[in-house]
Amino acid sequence: MTSQEKNQVVDPVCGARLDPGRTPRQVRRGSHIYYFCSPECMARFNQNSGRYLKGKGFIARFIDRLARAGRREYGSGRPCCHG
Ligand SMILES: [Zn+2]
Repeated sequence: MTSQEKNQVVDPVCGARLDPGRTPRQVRRGSHIYYFCSPECMARFNQNSGRYLKGKGFIARFIDRLARAGRREYGSGRPCCHG
């Protein structure tokens, strides 16, 4: 029987598939519960949860990229003060 497959959840950190009934490592954020395969994944999520939550999607990545491009444009020119 494979009926329990639809109860699987995904570890948001590493993408592992987990059975929520057998996973004691859970973190609640708002109305959502996240499950983790290991203490390492749970710790990583707690340290940097914004990165793994849905909020950081396409737009945020786009802004990150713009910021990085801007830094490259202004930050790394030829050294101008030392001859
Ligand atoms: Zn994991």
